[in-house]
Amino acid sequence: MNDLSPLHAVLSARAPTLVEAGGAGQRRGCPLSELRDRLRRSGLRPTRQRLSLGWLLFGKGDRHLTAEMLYDEAMRAKVPVSLATVYNTLHQFTQAGLLRQLALDGSKAYFDTNPSEHHHFFLEEEGQVLDMPDCGITVDALPEPPAGMEIAGVEVIVRLRRRD
Ligand SMILES: [Zn+2]
Repeated sequence: MNDLSPLHAVLSARAPTLVEAGGAGQRRGCPLSELRDRLRRSGLRPTRQRLSLGWLLFGKGDRHLTAEMLYDEAMRAKVPVSLATVYNTLHQFTQAGLLRQLALDGSKAYFDTNPSEHHHFFLEEEGQVLDMPDCGITVDALPEPPAGMEIAGVEVIVRLRRRD
């Protein structure tokens, strides 16, 4: 049995544009082989589960999700994984620098598919995370770091609630 069949269905549905972009018979431009290369470059063996979950994670642009959200997507896409595997994979991807874990909510870990430094809005009641526009904030009056240390990054979370 081929566990990746839903994935291949998605890939073949997108094939016409890929062929136009990459030329007939070329592997270049195929999102799945790009993902495989990306995992290898990050020091992760491209196992079937990592490819399936990576495909779900990175195939839809920048977004923020919890292990439970990814697990639900995997179930809908008929990817045979356990919630524990989803957790482990998210943490492995984070350690490899492919994801960034966001400290938004003590009870749930959110993962960002855009690992570069940027700021967030967090709608607490709904658990919704939004990227702040580039011009959204300037942080220019930071305190001096303790002796022997330097600031490695600044992450701003602006918490939102709906107005009544
Ligand atoms: Zn983000």
